[in-house]
Amino acid sequence: MKCIFLLADGMGDWPVESLGGKTPLEAAHTPHMDAMAASGVVGLCRSIPQGMPPGSDVANMSLLGFDPARYHTGRGPIEAAAMGLVTWPDDLIFRLNLVTVSEFSDAGVMRDYSAGHIDTDIAHRIVAGLSRTCAGIDMSVYPGVQYRHILVLKAGAETRGVKSFEASMAVRPPHDITDKPIAEDLALFRKSPILWEFMTKAATVLAVTNHGSRANAVWPWGQGGTLSLPPFEEKYGLRGAVVSAVDLVKGLGRAAGMEVVDVPGATGLLDTNYAGKVAAALDFLTRGDFVFLHVEAPDECGHGGQAADKVEAVTRFDRLVVGPLREALAGTDTIFLTACDHFTPIAVKTHTTDPVPFVLWREGLSPQPAPAFTEALAAGTGLVVEQGFDLLDFALDRAGRRA
Ligand SMILES: [Zn+2]
Repeated sequence: MKCIFLLADGMGDWPVESLGGKTPLEAAHTPHMDAMAASGVVGLCRSIPQGMPPGSDVANMSLLGFDPARYHTGRGPIEAAAMGLVTWPDDLIFRLNLVTVSEFSDAGVMRDYSAGHIDTDIAHRIVAGLSRTCAGIDMSVYPGVQYRHILVLKAGAETRGVKSFEASMAVRPPHDITDKPIAEDLALFRKSPILWEFMTKAATVLAVTNHGSRANAVWPWGQGGTLSLPPFEEKYGLRGAVVSAVDLVKGLGRAAGMEVVDVPGATGLLDTNYAGKVAAALDFLTRGDFVFLHVEAPDECGHGGQAADKVEAVTRFDRLVVGPLREALAGTDTIFLTACDHFTPIAVKTHTTDPVPFVLWREGLSPQPAPAFTEALAAGTGLVVEQGFDLLDFALDRAGRRA
């Protein structure tokens, strides 16, 4: 038995007026998911634990089977894991953005969370310079891709057994405060002498050096202690891999001891290399048992409020991922689980905590079907998996893993 978990990020949605009152999933042409719904098990799953934010990090951790309330420490640690950074249990790990602010002061406004989608080579030179800046401060910076980097406060998670101020401070993610004043966040940073020294030095260096980008400040956020997950293979008895363009999914996979497959041309956008992802999944299944294949594009279209593009993203997911995998694996004993991690409704352009639709299929399983795969029809079956981190176990059991 093999198992493949197909995840369309942010696919769930609410009815959209410009789509004639349909959701993008209803409006999209999805014959493969519909066929699996007609002879499979369809329901809803609460991917976001009560009281937690509906981030992709929380949702994907949950759907891989790990309770975010227990294992989620922050976004920074997941991305650090994706980079293969080895950190100590008492380190505090921030995601560090290079950003553009109107001015680095209480009168300042966040102009761009990405410093104009800064070029990676330029960013690496800047981060190398920042490393010299923070020499003598008990921290390290590690370069990532574009504006996305990592800052580690050594032994910064606790002070004498008590959670440190830096570990508990609630700085807003820079992408949530575009064109908004930054004074309230600076007030928090100022309370941390170590972060404030680093940030003011960085702003000064960025102001006086000719680095050829719009970056003029650094923004640490999403912090937490080192991510530690139980091995996926021990938990499920399946040798697994993740296939994704997105760092946080790669980080979750790496932390759970799964193989992380890099696919050239996997962009996280509508034009991503679907065929490459399918080929990578099939290749892994010749030596492994389980693949988590993640497609980011529907979420991006949701954030952009682009209804027609989101319909196209869902249509392509069905035609270029679900279809080819069904065809390639026809006649083999494979469990298919398809879901999204959270809704990203066009109407609000951000994530919501709505329970997500899923469809489970295996040849010969006892069905709990729906006429098609949509949010409303999934709700209509009455099947609800209350905890996202139970979904995979539920699916494997219901599909007769132990039969
Ligand atoms: Zn997501």
